[in-house]
Amino acid sequence: MGNRRIGSFARTNVKMGDAKMIVGRQLEGSHYNTQRAKGSGRKWQQGRERFAGMERHQKHENRQGHGFAAHRDFRRQEAQRHPQSQQELKVHKDIIVLGEEPDDKAQEKQERYFGKVVIACDVGATKILAAAFTPSGKIVRQLGLGTPKKSKKLLLDAIASTIDRLGYKKTIGIGVCVPGFVKDGIVYGLPNIGIAERFDFAAELGRLIGKKVEVENDSKCFAIAESRMGAGKGVGDMIAVNFGTGIGGGVIIGSRLYRGSNNMAGEFGHMKMTLGGPACGCGGEGCFERYASGSGIVGRFADAAQAGAQTSLFWETATAAQILESQDQVAVSVSRNAARIAGRGVASLANAFNPKLIVVGGPVAQAYQGKYKKEFDEGFAAGAIPVVKNTPIALSRLEHPSLVGAMLIASQPQQKSRD
Ligand SMILES: [Zn+2]
Repeated sequence: MGNRRIGSFARTNVKMGDAKMIVGRQLEGSHYNTQRAKGSGRKWQQGRERFAGMERHQKHENRQGHGFAAHRDFRRQEAQRHPQSQQELKVHKDIIVLGEEPDDKAQEKQERYFGKVVIACDVGATKILAAAFTPSGKIVRQLGLGTPKKSKKLLLDAIASTIDRLGYKKTIGIGVCVPGFVKDGIVYGLPNIGIAERFDFAAELGRLIGKKVEVENDSKCFAIAESRMGAGKGVGDMIAVNFGTGIGGGVIIGSRLYRGSNNMAGEFGHMKMTLGGPACGCGGEGCFERYASGSGIVGRFADAAQAGAQTSLFWETATAAQILESQDQVAVSVSRNAARIAGRGVASLANAFNPKLIVVGGPVAQAYQGKYKKEFDEGFAAGAIPVVKNTPIALSRLEHPSLVGAMLIASQPQQKSRD
């Protein structure tokens, strides 16, 4: 995830009611990275074949001259020479149809090639990202849409439309992750989307799309993805901490997510760091996420500016990303402090659980393991008891880990059960 840029989506206008579709660029997706990781040998082979083909083309042209007929004959000969690789490349070209409406022919080819797909949907505060995965976890198509705010009905309609637009009728399962408390399909409000009410998300969305839907908290999906397909693959006992707008995560024990008695285990963002302190959306004060999350950084930066610190940023509108990137003195000081507290909070988790690994992820964690790693490590060293000081900390490398987790809960229902 080192070179990942948040929100770098190719924008194409695809009419969908009044909404504007944002169609994700496939290269952003995990499919490309998986291909790159797994298939470097095959890529090299393809490159070599292509090079050999270019040489043959040159020789052919030297013999027969240029022109369409010569070119067509050459293509035909090449196709006969490598029927499999030609077919494979062609199919891949058809699958990665981004920025266009699915046409029936392409869909037919996709289904013939991959059979059924798993649909996953990540409902974020700013965008809804939906993707179709092969059973082995490769993204074959993904679409994005801006998240409608403050209306449960508009939100559910938008999710249903995005899933529908993916264009797959045969599905193994549908998994959705949301930024809120979830238990047994019921969502207990989505504060970042401006929805306060509690509602049966799984049943209502399931009714709209006519299929069974699994729904889970996004940070729990992040933890599941990291333990099954990410940095924690094969580790068994680990903690995943997601530093985004808030802070969430999951406790993985024996390769399974520990859910607690109400499916609320992993709400690390509400660990109390001090007596008093800034007020939190949970009703408490001095919570971990009021200091070390994206919204916490924005809040502490505003505090500093309002207390009279001279800053070159407009504190009323500065985002966490801007504060973390900025060289402004006040921004740097606030970011350093946030990184130290993040390290300290992660150390508390190491003290409490003694896991084999802690995976940190989310946009803010990039800075804690990059520009502000020194401060994060200082905070961790100061907070960890001696026997857990060497707990390895890894940065998430998955693209869209919560989306991958939503795919896993839909395709492997045992991840849903509480045992
Ligand atoms: Zn709180």
